[in-house]
Amino acid sequence: MTKIERLKQEAREAARIKGHRLGRFRESVITAEGPAPGQRPAAVAVCQVCGAMAVVAPAPARDEPEILGEAVQWECFGIEREGHETA
Ligand SMILES: [Zn+2]
Repeated sequence: MTKIERLKQEAREAARIKGHRLGRFRESVITAEGPAPGQRPAAVAVCQVCGAMAVVAPAPARDEPEILGEAVQWECFGIEREGHETA
């Protein structure tokens, strides 16, 4: 398993614990600011319930996380509606 695949799995699990339902990861880039600005390769998935993003960055700058995004930080606002979805 490649590193980014492992990170995707970790991010998906972290988001699932928060109640999110992530869609497929797609390749992307993130634009970093701060001490090491620039663009980094990344993969992004969006929660199909609330739209929160989970982002994995296999090659972050020092002090930057490999997994970030709203979906791994905050609970899904749809978590209380579990079981009542039609989609
Ligand atoms: Zn969500």
